[in-house]
Amino acid sequence: MISIKGWSKLGNSWKWAIFSLLSLALASVVYLNFFRVAPEERGALRTLKCPKCRHVEEKVVVDISDPAETQCTCSECGERMGYLFKCEDCQYEFSLIEKEPPKPEPGMKTMAKFHLALEARKCPNCGSTHTGPVPVK
Ligand SMILES: [Zn+2]
Ligand SMILES: [Zn+2]
Repeated sequence: MISIKGWSKLGNSWKWAIFSLLSLALASVVYLNFFRVAPEERGALRTLKCPKCRHVEEKVVVDISDPAETQCTCSECGERMGYLFKCEDCQYEFSLIEKEPPKPEPGMKTMAKFHLALEARKCPNCGSTHTGPVPVK
């Protein structure tokens, strides 16, 4: 009887140990996701293209969609520049200012949301969504 009691006590303490380990793990996941301040990226060197005079240059961009971002103006004509994007289908190069994708309708399917995000980066020449930013050379 005593040994059985001992085993069941051990079982309980193990359960508690596992439970506290799990809550500790959960707590750290929550902490990492919500409270840890991600190392702020102070801009990256990107290839930019002016939509007006087609001037291409490399600049350090923090947030291209921020109107206060003075780094993103064309040194030739002063127009706001976008990222230099290239269409994989027709090789057309264009200027794209990445914006927040439009808010999806409630109840929208994942594929439709994905499509919506792709719409924002469509090639203005052939309409293809196989486009991507041109990396810095
Ligand atoms: Zn320009
Ligand atoms: Zn194209």
